[in-house]
Amino acid sequence: MPRSHTITLIPGDGIGPEVTAAVVRILENAGRATDVHFNWEPMMAGAEAFEMHGEYIPAEVYASIEKNRVALKGPVTTPIGGGFASINVTLRKKFELFANFRPVKSLPGLVTKFPDIDLIIVRENTEDLYVGLEHEIVPGVIESLKIITEKGSTRIAKFAFEYVRKHGRKKIHAIHKANIMKMSDGLFINCARKMSMGFPEISYAEHIIDNTCMQLVMNPYQYDTLLLGNLYGDIVSDLCAGLVGGLGLVPGANLGEECAIFEAVHGSAPDIAGKDLANPTALLQSSVLMLRHLDEVAAADRVQKALEAVYAEGKHLTRDVGGSNGTSAFADAIIEAMEAK
Ligand code: NAD
Repeated sequence: MPRSHTITLIPGDGIGPEVTAAVVRILENAGRATDVHFNWEPMMAGAEAFEMHGEYIPAEVYASIEKNRVALKGPVTTPIGGGFASINVTLRKKFELFANFRPVKSLPGLVTKFPDIDLIIVRENTEDLYVGLEHEIVPGVIESLKIITEKGSTRIAKFAFEYVRKHGRKKIHAIHKANIMKMSDGLFINCARKMSMGFPEISYAEHIIDNTCMQLVMNPYQYDTLLLGNLYGDIVSDLCAGLVGGLGLVPGANLGEECAIFEAVHGSAPDIAGKDLANPTALLQSSVLMLRHLDEVAAADRVQKALEAVYAEGKHLTRDVGGSNGTSAFADAIIEAMEAK
């Protein structure tokens, strides 16, 4: 009897449906070979959902995630400077997905300025300027509230230290701007510092965010695990994606006590949407994180090995990483690599 998992599937918009279709096809194939059955529950969110259901996140999306506790999600477009609140931020807050976990690792065969990058980004996912509390004080003056709590900062620091200990990594850098935001970022690093006392085997340091950006592009090897608040974590994730070949590659997991939503770092990439140009690697690597979360190690290894083989060979890559293949041809190559084993 195959093991069965019911998973909420939110393809999203822009390149979301294309990369999601590719990933589902690859996972179905890996599942058949490893005795895993996926029962997908497709759900809509964002502008399209509003047109169909009159809600940006229909009640059935919440119910499905609450029931299944695991979702695989494509990107969703967020209007700029107005319109509805980010679907991503709303889901992260609703399910208290406090940890945004983003491993940034070089893939074989890709020529980048820095080979063999292996960084972990741990981003606080529910607080900071992303609480979206903005208002006009008087005409021409807007206040946007940066909320940092002891509870939230301690919880994310604990996650980072426990992850590093469990996986035998060595170092954590807490990233901040406490020289300017002495109270809010000060609280964030104080909580991290306090947590570090309970993990004496892990080296702990603090770097200011602007210096960190420079250090990352000069010598990323000095870092192992970066612990950041919500805004700095968001920005540094894209910067680190640039170190390994771009946003088409880097996966992510939004983790809470009860539920987990797996999604790529990248957004809906409207500039290439609907053209079979998007690289599905980032969502595929997110789905590998999901398989490990579900304890489906054989399926996860099968997908990861095939992905690395296709990169090492370098003949079926998408345009963003120097190839000439489309999304679906790249997915075909992964499936072929899995079947060749
Ligand atoms: P983006 O990540 O969508 O795109 C940035 C650049 O990277 C673009 O040039 C794009 O073509 C490229 N890119 C991204 N993903 C790629 C892939 N898989 N393959 C090849 N190239 C890829 O960022 P943006 O343009 O700033 O944002 C577009 C929209 O996405 C915005 O509405 C934003 O709010 C939203 N967004 C959503 C999420 C999410 O749903 N988790 C995350 C970030 C941004």
